[in-house]
Amino acid sequence: MAELHFSVPGRVESIQLRGHDFFIKRDDLIDPLLSGNKYYKLYRLIHTPAEELHTLRSWGGSQSNAMLAIAALCHRKGWCFEYTTRNLPKHLKSAPTGNLKTALDLGMQLHEMPQDRMAAAITAMRCDAMPGCLSIAQGGADPMALEGIHHLAESIEQWRLQMGFEQLNLVTPSGTGTTASYLARSLPHLSVLTTPLVADRNDLIAQISQLMPLPDNLNILDRGRRYRFAQPEAAFLLLYEELRSTGITFDLIYGVPMWHTLLRHLDHIEGPILYLHSGGLTGNATMLDRYRQAK
Ligand SMILES: *Cc1c(COP(=O)(O)O)cnc(C)c1O
Repeated sequence: MAELHFSVPGRVESIQLRGHDFFIKRDDLIDPLLSGNKYYKLYRLIHTPAEELHTLRSWGGSQSNAMLAIAALCHRKGWCFEYTTRNLPKHLKSAPTGNLKTALDLGMQLHEMPQDRMAAAITAMRCDAMPGCLSIAQGGADPMALEGIHHLAESIEQWRLQMGFEQLNLVTPSGTGTTASYLARSLPHLSVLTTPLVADRNDLIAQISQLMPLPDNLNILDRGRRYRFAQPEAAFLLLYEELRSTGITFDLIYGVPMWHTLLRHLDHIEGPILYLHSGGLTGNATMLDRYRQAK
């Protein structure tokens, strides 16, 4: 089997934004498709010999970053990838774009389901009793992720000691909250700042609670008002450009809204801030199209 090659994670850069210094962990550079927290969440599978599995199954949104990362992993391992999502809108079905197109090009087998049959379909997809088949919860919210997030925690801790920082604030946006909560658990002496992008605060807490007791050092920052997931907002587009002018591009769905919330709370945060760049840039093209259409 061919070895999978990834850039060595860990490079940290610094930027200045609105007069403040921020450190950025460039995990977006690990791999074009399997980057950032998805690399760590799938770490165990990346290091699983190809012959141990033949099929991965998962479910979730039709432009999901987790979907794309699993598709890339399966493509490289020679595993079959079966993915269930809600019935696609007509335009996407006739001409797939973005992460969906890339995942299909990588051989992902897509199963569409009406919303009211999703719950039953998910139950039917669980294949833990079938040798060689593995089902991964939506967005990779799986205890399997702990091993890889632990590696992430170790590389952060190494960097912190090198820098001689007593205190450190880690910033990572939450979809399922798996990354933020496992990171908080792995680094109980540091503070992890996050904000809910997909759900609201209570739903995020409920989802994390399915994995583990809510860690004390996990700080869920308030977004100030309600936002819809992946909804174009004029303020986000401006901030996207402002961030780009520092030389680093962030994703419009998780990264930019996380920065938006972080900047709201900046006056109350003490000590250095390390932002974990989790990639997701493959979704920017379709988001920018939506911004253009929304004008
Ligand atoms: C998947 C993803 C997240 C959310 O990670 P969770 O562990 O589900 O909270 C955040 N940022 C980016 C860029 C992602 O792709």
